[in-house]
Amino acid sequence: MIKMSKQDYYEIIGVAKGASAEEIKKAFRKKARELHPDNKDSGDEQAFKELAEAYEVLSDEQKRAAYDRYGHEGVKGATRGFDDVDFSSFSGFSMDDILESLFGGGFRTSGGFGRSQGPSHGAHLKYDLEIDFLEAVFGCTKKITVNRLEDCESCEGSGGAPGSKITTCETCGGMGQVKELVNMLFVQTYQVTTCPKCSGRGKQVEKPCRDCKGQGLHRKKEDFDLKVPSGIDDGARMRLTGAGDKGAQGGGFGDLFIIVHVKQHKDFIREGNTIHLKQPVSFSMAALGGELMVPTVEGSKVLKIPKGIQSGTKLIMKDMGVPILNYPNRRGDQVVHINLDTPQKLSREEKELFEKLAEIRGERLDLDKEQREEVKKAKEAKESGAHKKTESESSSEKSDSEASKNNGSGTSKKEKKKEEKNDTFLDKIVDAFRPKEE
Ligand SMILES: [Zn+2]
Ligand SMILES: [Zn+2]
Repeated sequence: MIKMSKQDYYEIIGVAKGASAEEIKKAFRKKARELHPDNKDSGDEQAFKELAEAYEVLSDEQKRAAYDRYGHEGVKGATRGFDDVDFSSFSGFSMDDILESLFGGGFRTSGGFGRSQGPSHGAHLKYDLEIDFLEAVFGCTKKITVNRLEDCESCEGSGGAPGSKITTCETCGGMGQVKELVNMLFVQTYQVTTCPKCSGRGKQVEKPCRDCKGQGLHRKKEDFDLKVPSGIDDGARMRLTGAGDKGAQGGGFGDLFIIVHVKQHKDFIREGNTIHLKQPVSFSMAALGGELMVPTVEGSKVLKIPKGIQSGTKLIMKDMGVPILNYPNRRGDQVVHINLDTPQKLSREEKELFEKLAEIRGERLDLDKEQREEVKKAKEAKESGAHKKTESESSSEKSDSEASKNNGSGTSKKEKKKEEKNDTFLDKIVDAFRPKEE
């Protein structure tokens, strides 16, 4: 996390030192759109993280005050370090969603900055959804069950037992929040926190409801139909507005964030919108060409194999890949990787035919006399070279590395000698394999 020289936060955002909160927010939004990794023209993940860090400090009155007085030292450890945030997981979200998930409310187009008055929304919830490979390709509708907080039916969310009197909380005077003096780095300030007496409800009940213990809320299973769009990829997030927890005292529902996990397929490998497939092709078909039925996400399709195809050739099946997210009519391709299927067991007749084929083509299946001589000579040269070496050679590599690790003085002379020997041995090998000049 140590950086040699950190850039000034105001400079990063591009505002003057005395800029208003609104100016900072405006400048930040503009830059965030520019630098966000999803932006193909000017996206820069590292710069975006620095921008996020700068904004986290300058958008917070207390942190900004500490930064103004003491610079980066003043807010050391006060930022959360965006290095760990994986921005690629936000793909498919609007910039407002991203900013909101990083910095909280206030980035939606409606509503101002800061927390709105009145009862607060319930918590956002997370849901892991596992779908099949083909469900991700073509989209699907999934029933998901969320165990979320809802108003208690017995007390209709009030938290009070039937007939129980409800009074305003004395500690916070019904505000639900209290001010507390805190030491924030170098600055002593007031911090607003949830009232400990009424847990932020602003009210106190004489006799709490027995079903919800005065909370006014209880957990209940609720089903939702989730439409998963075609082309969604593993790790993508979706948001179901209003499917999270209910807020206390008439507060609205939070949202449900769905993280999509796509199962692997036995045949297909997905890379973005491209599908890769390994296809074995026989010797005869590779030589003669032909037609094959190959699996695609839409079932088996005919693939023409051109004659003389080589192993490793990639054949493209146009528009047989994954639909592009949010553009269901546009699709990627399927890439078929041709793999020559060498027969491992041959019948007598097959063997004869292959031999016959080799004969017709004038292929030798073994070395000729000259080649044999050459191999023999090379082998002898190698052996005579190795002969001078002792059997300790095999372990010398290990002791060399140990010697360099120890770096001790006692054994250094001996090790050095071995190293020299090694060099000459190596030289011989290199010589033996050096291409002959003609
Ligand atoms: Zn209740
Ligand atoms: Zn209170």
